[in-house]
Amino acid sequence: MFNKAVTLFRIFGFEVKVDWSWLILGALIVWSLATGLFPSWYEGLDPAAYWAMGVAGAVGLFLSIVFHELCHSIVARRFGLDMKGITLFLFGGVAEMGDEPPSPRAEFLLAVAGPVSSAVLGAALFGLGFLLRGSGAVTPVRGILNYLAILNLVLAVFNLIPAFPLDGGRLLRAVLWGLKGDLRGATRIASGIGAGLGAGLMFLGAAQFFLGRSVGGLWTLVVGMFVRGAAKSSYRQLLFRRAVEGVPVRKFMVADAVSVGPRASIEELVDDYVYKYHFKMYPVVDGGQLVGCVTLDQVKGVPREDWAARNVGELAQACSRENTVRPDDDVLKALALMNRTGRGRLLVVDGGKLAGVIALKDILGFIALKLDLEEQ
Ligand SMILES: [Zn+2]
Repeated sequence: MFNKAVTLFRIFGFEVKVDWSWLILGALIVWSLATGLFPSWYEGLDPAAYWAMGVAGAVGLFLSIVFHELCHSIVARRFGLDMKGITLFLFGGVAEMGDEPPSPRAEFLLAVAGPVSSAVLGAALFGLGFLLRGSGAVTPVRGILNYLAILNLVLAVFNLIPAFPLDGGRLLRAVLWGLKGDLRGATRIASGIGAGLGAGLMFLGAAQFFLGRSVGGLWTLVVGMFVRGAAKSSYRQLLFRRAVEGVPVRKFMVADAVSVGPRASIEELVDDYVYKYHFKMYPVVDGGQLVGCVTLDQVKGVPREDWAARNVGELAQACSRENTVRPDDDVLKALALMNRTGRGRLLVVDGGKLAGVIALKDILGFIALKLDLEEQ
């Protein structure tokens, strides 16, 4: 979902990105504000005024969410957490955190920053709308201010629902973590409540749907699915992280990896390697030195009649930070790289020489075994 995000702007050193799903959502918001909400709140305005209010309302909604996530990010940075940026996708924003918070106190302050800042912004917008009431003339402006004030208060309250990974769930996790000193147990409880709440919302949505409130029911159902999915995946993520934290790549790599020489033809590569080992990537080694790697996708790019005439060396991709790790790197780094590039195998390089190959399959197998033993 995050791969299709487009960078919009940078603020305080954070990148603000938007997922394509936001364009669809933005259009829906403009439409429902311009044809539904504003005409019913403020009767008798020009249709063009409603559309202008709709656009302003949607932009304000977008900026309100950015403000909320930015406040989380600023607190996170104060605690030394590596914040990569803010991505807005369907149903709000996600401040991308590189790691778990260092302490229950950090987690509490980090989580509370969002709802508090949204509540403060909402109150300030209400105040501004109130002040403008005396001036009389500007109904559309006051309409937008009131709408954004209510929206920010709703944002504060919705995020305080104690369902991890919503802010309220993070607050609950921080308290449990502080009381018991066990991050994993605290996450299990908080995300269990999150998953339960998500399931409850889905049930409620389905009930609404069958009772005839189809649009509202569908929204509730989708929000419930989102909350439930996020709760489950964030607990799994923590278990994953815990299982391989601090383990070096060396532990998982296959040391005597199958490699191919640069002078082998593509035909030989396919017959003697691809059909034999079934890997999608092969290191290319020349006289003991690693010169790069060749992938199945690259082979597919060459017409079959050229396979005998062309050799692996001219096809090979050079080693780069996109396809290599070092033996002492953390396995989490290798996993992040695989996730980002979609590669299932990476070259392990030590001083220009091929030390081995690390495969996603092996790491996942280890994690599954470790989690299985720890559950006992
Ligand atoms: Zn938040």
